[in-house]
Formats: sequence, C-alpha cells, structure tokens
Amino acid sequence: MKLTPSMETLIAELVKLPTIGRKSAQRLAFHLLRTRREDALALARAIERMRESVRFCTQCGNIAEAERCAICSDLSRDPSIICVVEEVTDLVAFERPGTFRGLYHVLGGCLSPLHGVTPEKLSIAPLIERLRSGGVREIIIATNPSVDGEATALYLAKLTRPLGVRATRIGMGIPIGSSVEFADEITVQKALEGRREIEG
Ligand SMILES: [Zn+2]
Repeated sequence: MKLTPSMETLIAELVKLPTIGRKSAQRLAFHLLRTRREDALALARAIERMRESVRFCTQCGNIAEAERCAICSDLSRDPSIICVVEEVTDLVAFERPGTFRGLYHVLGGCLSPLHGVTPEKLSIAPLIERLRSGGVREIIIATNPSVDGEATALYLAKLTRPLGVRATRIGMGIPIGSSVEFADEITVQKALEGRREIEG
C-alpha cells in the first residue's frame, strides 16, 4: 500500500542509498517517524552540513573542509613520500593502521580504456605538477590489484621516472581483483611494507 506522500518521498530517497531496498527504506522511515523529533532533524542537518562544507583538498584530492586537508596541513608528516590511491576511501584504508607518515594523491579512479577513462580524466597532471615542484623522492603506487590498476601503476612509473622520483608498487597481500578499500589494517600495513620497485 502507499503510505502518506511525505513518507513515500522519504522512502524514495532512502532507496537510492547503497544496500537499501524498499523494505529497509520503509523500516528506516518508520524509525525516523517514531524517534525523537530532534534526532530525526539532527540527521537531516548533518547531511546538509556535510554537503555544504566538504570539498576536495587542492593539493591531494582528499576530502577537506579548508583549502588543504588535515593530512596535507599536518607538518609532522613527511612530504617526500606520496602514496597514490584511486579513491578517498582507499586513503582512509591506508590511514587506518596509523603508521604511514607520508602524504597522498587521489587519482579519482584508474585508467580504463574500455570504460573511456583516459589520463586526462584522472588527477595525473596535478600529480606530475606536484612532483615537478620538487621535494618528493618516492611515490608508492597503491592502485587496486586489478588489470587496470596494474596498467595505471606502470603508466605512472614511466611518467615519474624521468623526474628522478622513485616509483614503487604496494606488495602482495591484497588479493587480485579485490580492492584496497576493503582490506584490513594488517593487510594494508603489509602491502606498504612489502612495496617494491616497478620494473620496465
Ligand atoms: Zn590534501
């Protein structure tokens, strides 16, 4: 049966979220109806505030609420080593063990000729620009262990080598076809420690 118009509108929005089907959406909508009014409104305001204040770091592409993200602004971190990841969620995975002290660069995906993802569609030019400005001795390429992720790593290594920057690839541990985002702390830690020079 159809619920009231505003309940239906909310359910239609909730269904757009990942893993939420009609049944779960309806359960959430009724929960928000029964819960304290201020709690339901706090959720609405949190979404609004997040969308209005979160932007992307102008240096690395991480999420930020200022021009530079918290990692790029942290002077205790080592700017001579940059971990290159596909997405912000991968950066979050590498930050979880709390042992990596370098900076990051978020590509925004990986090269995929089949899906029309060419170098211009990724944050590759800004990365090269960062390396050209000096002070970086190594980039750890932490794209996913997929065919496209490997191809992207080789492509980046070719670009960075003439700049005198060492290009390494994260070690094994993250299963082929799996993704960095879902790897646990120990796995990402081992992947970083086991990084090796990219040949070719
Ligand atoms: Zn940043």
